[in-house]
Amino acid sequence: MEKQISAEFEKRFGGTGTFYASAGRINLIGEHTDYNGGFVFPGAIDKVIMTEIRQNDLDKVRVYSIDIDDYAEFGLNEEDAPQQSWARYIFGVCREVIKRGGVVKGFDAVFAGNVPLGAGLSSSAALESCFAFALNDMFNGNTIDKFELARIGQSTEHNYCGVNCGIMDQFASVFGKKGQLMRLDCRSMEYEYYPFNPEGYELVLVDSVVKHELADSPYNKRRQSCERVAKRLGVETLRDATMEMLDEVKGDITAEDYFRAKFVIEEKQRVLDVCDALNRGDYDTVGERMYETHRGLSKDYEVSCEELDYLNDIARECGVTGSRIMGGGFGGCTINLVKNELRDKFVETACRKFNERYGHEPKIYDVVISDGARRV
Ligand code: ADP
Ligand code: MG
Repeated sequence: MEKQISAEFEKRFGGTGTFYASAGRINLIGEHTDYNGGFVFPGAIDKVIMTEIRQNDLDKVRVYSIDIDDYAEFGLNEEDAPQQSWARYIFGVCREVIKRGGVVKGFDAVFAGNVPLGAGLSSSAALESCFAFALNDMFNGNTIDKFELARIGQSTEHNYCGVNCGIMDQFASVFGKKGQLMRLDCRSMEYEYYPFNPEGYELVLVDSVVKHELADSPYNKRRQSCERVAKRLGVETLRDATMEMLDEVKGDITAEDYFRAKFVIEEKQRVLDVCDALNRGDYDTVGERMYETHRGLSKDYEVSCEELDYLNDIARECGVTGSRIMGGGFGGCTINLVKNELRDKFVETACRKFNERYGHEPKIYDVVISDGARRV
């Protein structure tokens, strides 16, 4: 990738620039917990966006996307927003740096990546954090702190791309380190690194390539259930609730709200269990909690779908250590913790069986926990 970028840069702009990269991410456990003040547990992966970049004297940005084979040119004022959606991520990052009092000068850039687009691995956060990191290093002497870099990416999604996302993806992409997962407390924003070097295991994502768009906005309905229960319990978010508290009000709330809240309360504990297990190097427990999360998301929170439940069943039948839906649900990937010697058999079985039932093969991504935003 570096060679291809370098050749393209030379051809378009002449000479050389500086290389920066950032990464996509997985979330091992901790789903639908962010808006409940709970924990998420992401890590950056070895799928990256990489750019070669150099200041120009033109007071404008000239950038070429190798993967989309498209070129964009734009100024740095609010009214200069480019038309192409991919370029708006870069424009947004520039604007958000400037809005925070940072410096951005004109630059030339060529970039490419191998984070699959729209597969739930957050290629958009990788793109934002790659450029945020580069602008901080090139023009601001690295004075913008890392949390602010993550917020620059998040605000870019909100203000320039129409995506109302949380902070996890950009956080993971900016803070990610090789062989380390991060437990992020979505209430206090405190975070801690945990070792993830599962010798003898691999992380394999199986992408169902389905996305069920449901009419009645299930995401908002889930949030409302959580808010209702929190209110009934007199706590700010379900972060502060326990199963005992929930069981006390069981008679006063709907069965649906009860099961939604039960999932969130149990999921919080599962993240903490996984942290302890990782400190002991106990990957069997990590895997068990992953299966429990899948069951909870499917039966109690009801955000799974037939295809993902089927992939989860196949994983269990193959003896995969842990498997669950990754992301908000209703489609996308499962994340699987698989013993090395089982990996090929599992992938072959999942592809064949899934294809037999749904008429297309899932996509497979092997991932390794790796560094996030950096100068290359
Ligand atoms: P994801 O779940 O992967 O973040 P999004 O829809 O949020 O999916 O972001 C994908 C968008 O990010 C693409 O449509 C494109 O605009 C931009 N993008 C991501 N990776 C690249 C890339 N390698 N080259 C150009 N644009 C990219
Ligand atoms: Mg995205």
